[in-house]
Order: sequence, then structure tokens, then C-alpha cells
Amino acid sequence: MGSLVVNGLIVTMDEERRIIEDGAVYLKDGKIEDVGRTSKLVDEYARDSEEQIDAKGRIVMPGFISSHTHLYGMALRGASLDIEPPTDFTQNLQRIWWSLDELLTKNDAYATALSAALTYAKHGVTCFADTWSGPNSINGVLDHIEKAVREVGIRGVLAFESTERHSEKEGNEGINENERFIKKAKGQNRSLVEGMVSVHASFTVTDDHIRRAFQVAEELDAPFTIHTAEGLGDVYHNLERYGERTVERFKRLGILGPRTVLAHCVNVSTREVDLIANTKAGVAHNPMSNSLNAVGVAPVPDMLEKGVNVGLGDDGYIFEPFENMRSAFLIHRVHRRDPGAITLQDVLEMATMNGAKLYGLDTEIGSIESGKRADLVLIEPKVKPSPINANSVLGHLTYTCNAGDIDAVIVDGEVILRDRELVGIDEEKETAKVHKTISRLWDRLRSAEPQIDRVRGH
Ligand SMILES: [Zn+2]
Repeated sequence: MGSLVVNGLIVTMDEERRIIEDGAVYLKDGKIEDVGRTSKLVDEYARDSEEQIDAKGRIVMPGFISSHTHLYGMALRGASLDIEPPTDFTQNLQRIWWSLDELLTKNDAYATALSAALTYAKHGVTCFADTWSGPNSINGVLDHIEKAVREVGIRGVLAFESTERHSEKEGNEGINENERFIKKAKGQNRSLVEGMVSVHASFTVTDDHIRRAFQVAEELDAPFTIHTAEGLGDVYHNLERYGERTVERFKRLGILGPRTVLAHCVNVSTREVDLIANTKAGVAHNPMSNSLNAVGVAPVPDMLEKGVNVGLGDDGYIFEPFENMRSAFLIHRVHRRDPGAITLQDVLEMATMNGAKLYGLDTEIGSIESGKRADLVLIEPKVKPSPINANSVLGHLTYTCNAGDIDAVIVDGEVILRDRELVGIDEEKETAKVHKTISRLWDRLRSAEPQIDRVRGH
């Protein structure tokens, strides 16, 4: 027996980008069996459905995909840090993120992942790509994150962010943790959680490390991701030590290709965008985090014009798909002083299909099409300023909606959020647990040391 979602406004994100008014989706065995008009699907499938979910007045979308995040970013939400305020991105890493990394435990990994996964589930994000960082919590840490993600029931692509900030040994342990986890995840039948290889950024690792990490991704046929030209420090590091800009160095190392997801690409030249396009590498764009860190604006309109696949991430900052879409929509218009710089369709693609493509999941998720896994969100805008129909829905998704409008979430055919409530999870109890762990981390963070001499490659 399957289940029917009926009477909805279906934004399919399929090849033709069809939007179906008074539409229905038939789900069976965790998959989408059929999509079409409600009258037709009720005729065909009502007898074989144990449940009908009424989506009247609701937008039905494929689940949102966060193409780049750090679940442990939850640990810094609202933290008051007694530090000299950073004035650029490198200081930001030295004084905040790397100081935090030193303190993180596997228990923190579980608690922050649980906090983020609960948030994602309530906000309609059904899949994300995460990298964990922490030199004192490497071996086995991904199992703790996996446990939290499984408890909530969303999809995740998990990795440890390998770096040689302290030593080559630390770098190897990071690669090994990814290798271990990818193999484990591949061995699990129909798992919602997968592994990938993640390297921190070009300025904390040697050429040799990048090559070795990429080789593991190739051997295991897994995605590979690396922070790329986020701040100018990254670019200067590579110019000074290698005489190459960041993406040029990656080209020489042979790591650009369809399995590679370059996070950020803020400070990239036109030639570097061409290299990305020609090699079919993908980009995870994080406009809200880039704004917070004041690193600049990624040339996303150029990338889209050249056919680069760009997904939308949050970088562990604001775990909310609508705010990230709004930000992506606005930042390029003002940056280019061009209202045609980016379209509503572009940002919606970045938040769904493009993210699926980045991680090789586009035959499984990213759109509402028969044969794909059943990852859907039902959105009921609390405020309806004007009619919501096939012609206006893209505008409403970027201008009107917010996370509080997510009414139901279905992942792999399972309803995990119903009437805005998480199913089978005592949210209050779980949140109290998380807060206790994060409070203890904040206590430790108060006496943390800045991490200054932490670049490699000379
Ligand atoms: Zn990041």
C-alpha cells in the first residue's frame, strides 16, 4: 500500500520544471510512483493508498538540499566570545573557528548534529553535505554525527575536514576517517547517510595531502569537497608559495572534475571560473556566510552563464532555506547592479536539483518525478499577500515563505514532520540535552587560545 498527497500546488523541479495546480503525488515503498492531477491520481491509486495527505492550500516541493554546511556551527549560535574582534577572515579562523575546533569532542559532534538535524527537519531541508572539524576528535567521530542524523530521519553526506594544521599525521587521520566512513556507509543497504572526502582548504594542507585525499575519493567513487578561495588569504597563500591562484593549483593537482565540490569560490578570477566550467567541477555557494565573514561576493552569475553547477549552502550559519535563497537572489543583483543577474528559477534550482547533482544524487532526489526517492515538503504560507498559483509560486517561495511555513516533511516516504510537529521525537527533551552539552562547550571556549601559526604548504 502507498500513500497519496492530494490537492497541492506541485513545484516538481523536473526536466521541464512543471508546476501542477491541484496536483497529487503517489508514494510507495519510499519512492515517488506518479505525479499528476489530483482527479487522475485519486482514480488510479486511492484504492491502493492507506493514507491521503491533504495538501490543500499548500505548495508541495522536493525537499531542500543544503550543499555545504557545518552542523557544529550550531555551537557558536549566540555564543558570547571574549576575544579581540576579528577584522578579516583569517583572523576569524584563528580567533574563533580554530579555537573552537581544538575543544570539540565526539559528544559535541553528536549534540550539535542533533540540534542542526532537528532544525533542518523543521525547516524542510531533507538532505545536507556536512564537514566536521576537530583535531582532538577524529577517529570514529562520523559515527556520532550519523547517529544524530538517523534519529531525526533526514539524509546526510558526512565527512571529516582533513587538515595538516598541526601535523601530517593529523592530516592522514582525517583522510582515514573519511575512508572508513565511506566504506561503512556503502555497506549499509538503502542508507540515508553517505560519506565523502573533505579537505579543509588549500592553505592548511600540502600538495601531497590534497592528492592523497582525492585519490581516496576516486578509489571509493565518493564526492570530494574543499573550501576554495573563500577569503583573500587563501589566494595570497597560493600565489606566494606556488605562483598559482587557488583553482589553478587544484587544476595542476588534477582534482577538478565532476566529483569535486568547491565550497565558496568567492575570490576566483574569470580564468578560474573557466577552469571550473571546463572540468565540470561543481560549486557550493554560501551567500549568507560570505556576508557574515565579509569575504566578498562569489561570481555566481558568471558561473551559471558558463554552465557551472552551483548548489546553495549555509556553511553552518543560517540553517534556513528561504533566507539562503533570498540572500542568493539579492546579493548578485546589487553586486552587479543588474536586476537580471539571477532569476527566481536559478535560486530554486540551486536549493534543490543542483545540490543533488553536486553529490551525484540527482537520479535519487532533487525533484518530484516518478522513480525518485520520496523526499517532499509541504509549505503552507501563514501570510498570503496575493494569490499563490502556478504563475506566482516561484516569487512566493523566495519573497513570502519562511521556515515557519513548513507544514509537513517526508523523507524516503516517511512523514518526519506533520502539522509542524516532529514525529516520534520529544523535541523539548532532546533540545534540553543539546543545550546542556553546548553550555559546557561555551565554558571551555571562554579560556580558549587563539590558533595563529596554522598554515601549511611551505
Ligand atoms: Zn565551510
